[in-house]
Amino acid sequence: MTKDLLGKDYYSLESAKAYWSVSQVKRFKECEARALAELNDEWKDKRDKTALLVGNYVHSAFESKEAHEAFIDENKESIFKKNGNLYAPFETAENMIQALATDKNFMALYQGEKEAAVTGDIAGIEFKGKIDCLNVEHGYFVDIKTTKGPIDDEVWVKDKDGNNYKVRWFEAYGYILQMAVYKTMLEAKYNKPFEPIIYAVTKESPSDTRAIRIQNIDAIQDELNELAKIIKRLDDVKHGRAQAKPCGHCEYCREKKLTKRVEVY
Ligand SMILES: [Zn+2]
Repeated sequence: MTKDLLGKDYYSLESAKAYWSVSQVKRFKECEARALAELNDEWKDKRDKTALLVGNYVHSAFESKEAHEAFIDENKESIFKKNGNLYAPFETAENMIQALATDKNFMALYQGEKEAAVTGDIAGIEFKGKIDCLNVEHGYFVDIKTTKGPIDDEVWVKDKDGNNYKVRWFEAYGYILQMAVYKTMLEAKYNKPFEPIIYAVTKESPSDTRAIRIQNIDAIQDELNELAKIIKRLDDVKHGRAQAKPCGHCEYCREKKLTKRVEVY
């Protein structure tokens, strides 16, 4: 059977091999050796899946009733306790869904094609993306981001010289890069401008919501420039034209003895 790499098989290894995505770039930046092993099905991502499942629980609720029910059915062991009640993270997810459903601005904005797959050329490399809600007619797209909150939070990051500085959480987590890549692909495909909107929803009690309209063209361009600098090498690693570098710290590197083996003190 042929695979539908941008549809039902979007999250398959085949699709990950065929296209770059922003999340794959992040994984390769963390540790090239581990990312390549994951792509070759030699290593399983060992991160706790709860945050991902909570995010998908919220997303599917606004995709369609059928999508939400199918998601719950596929993941019922992670979602429900033996007594039928929701596990705490999914209680929180229900609160986030209620917060969005009662946010008039969200309900008005979240109109358009849901889970819209898009592909396009970024710095000479073919990327894919899946957009939560795409409104071609009005030239915008919305991505729901669940976060611990508060929405005004800043987090510490390090620059390339090792200096610490603070940025907003959505910048630190690579969401501006993600929005920049989607915007570039959509504008090339439809030949019109698109405004990215991050719809933030917090795990606080009660949950807070906010539309973050990304209009900082300099920030978007900076992210694309940074990506252009590294993507050629990452693509060479992905396709075996360059040696993958181990980060020397992660669980994969420890298990494969790719950490620093001798230290002179
Ligand atoms: Zn590593």
